[in-house]
Amino acid sequence: MNKLLIDGRWVDALDGETIDVIDPCSGEAFTRIARGRAADVDLAVAAARRAVEGAWGSMTATERGRILQRLGQLILDHGEELADLEARDTGKPMSVARADAGAVARYFEFYGGAADKVHGQTIPYLSGYNVSVVRIPHGVTAHIIPWNYPAQMMGRTLAPALAMGNAAVVKPSEDACLTVLKLGELALQAGLPPGALNIVTGYGAEAGAALTAHPGINFATFTGSPEVGIQVQQATARNHVPCVLELGGKSPQIVFDDADLAKAAPIIVRAIVQNAGQTCSAGSRLLVQQSIHDRFVDIIATRYAELKAGTPQMDLDCGPLINARQRDKVQAFIAEATAMGVPMLAQGNLAPDLPAGGYFVKPALFGPVPREHRLACQEVFGPVLSVMPFSDEDDAVRLANATDYGLVAGVWTENGSRQSRLAQRIASGQVFINCYGAGGGVELPFGGVKKSGYGREKGFVALEEMSTTKTIVQHYA
Ligand code: NAD
Repeated sequence: MNKLLIDGRWVDALDGETIDVIDPCSGEAFTRIARGRAADVDLAVAAARRAVEGAWGSMTATERGRILQRLGQLILDHGEELADLEARDTGKPMSVARADAGAVARYFEFYGGAADKVHGQTIPYLSGYNVSVVRIPHGVTAHIIPWNYPAQMMGRTLAPALAMGNAAVVKPSEDACLTVLKLGELALQAGLPPGALNIVTGYGAEAGAALTAHPGINFATFTGSPEVGIQVQQATARNHVPCVLELGGKSPQIVFDDADLAKAAPIIVRAIVQNAGQTCSAGSRLLVQQSIHDRFVDIIATRYAELKAGTPQMDLDCGPLINARQRDKVQAFIAEATAMGVPMLAQGNLAPDLPAGGYFVKPALFGPVPREHRLACQEVFGPVLSVMPFSDEDDAVRLANATDYGLVAGVWTENGSRQSRLAQRIASGQVFINCYGAGGGVELPFGGVKKSGYGREKGFVALEEMSTTKTIVQHYA
């Protein structure tokens, strides 16, 4: 039985209730987590506040950085264990789970190293005055973590928060949180003082809502659906608490007729199928210039037909979806598109002899998808790729920008001027040219425009998001 981490100790939820943890490959429960609620959140926030005002808050940046770097090393040492746990909890292929564990370690290495390299400013002012601007932590930070990459999302938001000296309360998803708890255990081993990191598992509407509405938090970060993003904004607004929101996307891959198609094809397929399409930055729209449309779509369709979904140990192209609700949602998209006559160009397969009761869905390639169809503009969060032809550069930009989202875009062309024009004209937080890094790269600032959210994670900019400034004016004359 997995407990809550509050004030450096592992404890049951106050009312002793638990939630079953389901294996998405079989639909069967294999362990339980504590069902934290508002009263548990109260204790966690109070512990975090004591940490900010106590040992953690008075540590030097160098000491904080050392702890984070030790945690990074512990994550590497326990990489296989973390990968096993993540694969069991989410169903993702082992190779993806291993890559995730490596990526989490990078977050703690990177921000551990950066902790004492955040410098302030001095400002020339009136004669007889010293003015300095220093960076200070927000205080208590709230972290709402989704189920698609629990370990990575924990690293992505927690490492910069701790590097800046905040104390955190983490509410992972009820659908997948075992690696988040394991990271809590490793953080204590690394020497993180009690209260600097608290983890309250539970349902979003209970623990999550209580945390984001809590008057004791000073900052919130949320990754998940746009609908819950609105609830988080409303809850935090009541206490004037700032937040960073990462709400997904409908990211385009734009392929021009001069692109290196052999290079592009496998990267484009991987960018949607990775994690069974349950990736906020998945390249879920494939926009292809009319003149090469049929030729390129044939290449993609051939690859798509070869895709296979299976268990983590089979280590195929993708695993199951996270739960029955997500599977039903994705299957409804597929069924509705088929019923409306949108051509299915190719469909992947399920591995033979899968356990009964798992949430597997065959990857599906649709096209041409009408521009107004919901497959063209809504986030499916499954292994479904929508192909749409475009005529010229202006048409490509119009189509690329034609959704409510703006998280990531991929541009495939050998024409350097066109690369630069597209990078400028596409409305998104990241643009990849002749490559696509769905989610990867701790060094690279990440976040959306439009309904993909606001605020930035990763890179040095995350340290600014996780802190604020104080201006100190000293008169010495
Ligand atoms: P969700 O937004 O409901 O859940 C994300 C996290 O928010 C979980 O930890 C959940 O417990 C928590 N939460 C839920 N309600 C809350 C509330 N009122 N206050 C505070 N926290 C709350 O997402 P979901 O229902 O698991 O998935 C639905 C859809 O969201 C998916 O189909 C997908 O489109 C999208 N999604 C996007 C991402 C992403 O990376 N952008 C991640 C997960 C889900």
